[in-house]
Amino acid sequence: MVKKKQNIFYKTNDEIELLRHSNILVGKTHAEVAKIMKPGVKTIVLDKLAEEFIRDNNAEPGFKGYDGFPYTLCMSINNEVVHGMPSDYELKSGDVVSIDCGVYANGYYGDSAYTYVVGDVAPEVMHLLVVTKESLYKGIEQAIVGKRLGDISFAIQQHTERTHGYGVVRELVGHGVGRSLHESPEVPNYGKRGKGIKLMEGLVLAIEPMINLGKKEVKKDDDGWTIVTADGTPSAHFEHSVAVRKGKADILSTFEYIEAAIKNNSELKEIA
Ligand code: MG
Ligand code: MG
Repeated sequence: MVKKKQNIFYKTNDEIELLRHSNILVGKTHAEVAKIMKPGVKTIVLDKLAEEFIRDNNAEPGFKGYDGFPYTLCMSINNEVVHGMPSDYELKSGDVVSIDCGVYANGYYGDSAYTYVVGDVAPEVMHLLVVTKESLYKGIEQAIVGKRLGDISFAIQQHTERTHGYGVVRELVGHGVGRSLHESPEVPNYGKRGKGIKLMEGLVLAIEPMINLGKKEVKKDDDGWTIVTADGTPSAHFEHSVAVRKGKADILSTFEYIEAAIKNNSELKEIA
């Protein structure tokens, strides 16, 4: 999403715990959605469930109303990259569904995305999902004190584009997260090793590779929100919010609840 240049806000440990609280709620919201995902379910039903769950947990949907976005979840299916809108569309076997969820609680945002597989998909599509998820963790490995922002970007691009030939979306990037959903700095999924700002304790980043099976180019759909691949190929998106630490990044969001829900839902395939 578009963002003005602004200062970087480094977080205290207390603030990081509040960010963890919001991000864990994001993971649990995802899991609630994953429990009922199956062919025939309308995406708007999943959105309503997510909103109710977030409000029942004394928080607010982080995306609803942001820049005028009208829903709780961004749901981007198949060739849709990000910012897809829930609708009366019914999921079907073979759909690859990126769900991005944000919550706002105690003054801090949580932000995390996961791409789900409904029923069966082609092996090359599953491979895209596996590699994109791997690239997220390769980026996170670099989110430590003393590294530079470009080290994160490089690691993601190296794994997805150079090693596997996928298209790394250029127009959309990760970001700082805190009291605002999108803070400085931007975290591109492409870049040069050793470049960019030095990573310091207290920097909290949403790292989010958006990777296309085909070419890197994207365009905006007629609805004014949904970003789609220009060549129509499927796209994958995984996102964690992480705090930069010495030696090892602290992942504030979690896929633990999501992956337990997927395991227990025979209509969804595990990403592996
Ligand atoms: Mg997100
Ligand atoms: Mg984000």
